[in-house]
Amino acid sequence: MTRAAVLRIGHRPERDQRVTTHVGLTARALGAEGMYLAAADHGVVQSISDVVNRWGGNFFCQDNVKWRRCIHEWKEHGGTVVHLTMYGLDLPDIIGEIRKKERLLIIVGAEKVPGEIFGLADFNVAITGQPHSEISSLAIFLDHVFSGNELTREFSDAKIRIIPSKAGKKTEDL
Ligand code: SAM
Repeated sequence: MTRAAVLRIGHRPERDQRVTTHVGLTARALGAEGMYLAAADHGVVQSISDVVNRWGGNFFCQDNVKWRRCIHEWKEHGGTVVHLTMYGLDLPDIIGEIRKKERLLIIVGAEKVPGEIFGLADFNVAITGQPHSEISSLAIFLDHVFSGNELTREFSDAKIRIIPSKAGKKTEDL
């Protein structure tokens, strides 16, 4: 089974806190193991760890990561690097090959991504050739990697869980 982590680059603390937090929450909810943040932003780390505390699982969030080192170390340890970009190969054409890999580092950008990333990535993958966002592209990519199995995953050590219901909001304290 493939395992995945996210590397978020280009984060600007004064502008991107909300989006980067949602990148992390999306990564966690859809089956990734953690997020490396290539910037110093304790607020993002704190928000995500509050969610992990309450809603469970072992998702990690590490800030102050040097992105070049992170990518090189990932590759040195046999992992595969995927860069999500609208300029990449179409997801349907490449997902079969990507699903065979054991460990994925998924890079998402904010504004302009350094050109070097395209060469460092093992796969540059487009979630359509249209511009949208790091959150939507990550969500669709993870769902394809895990073939939808992540949608019904349980989170260990949760303090709360939702009881799915047709109408209204039902939760259970654990
Ligand atoms: N214009 C920027 C560039 O050329 O690098 C992209 C900025 S976009 C708001 C932020 C991030 O969303 C991108 O770095 C990429 O990771 C992701 N993204 C946006 N559209 C995408 C698409 N169609 N396919 C894959 N990733 C996408």
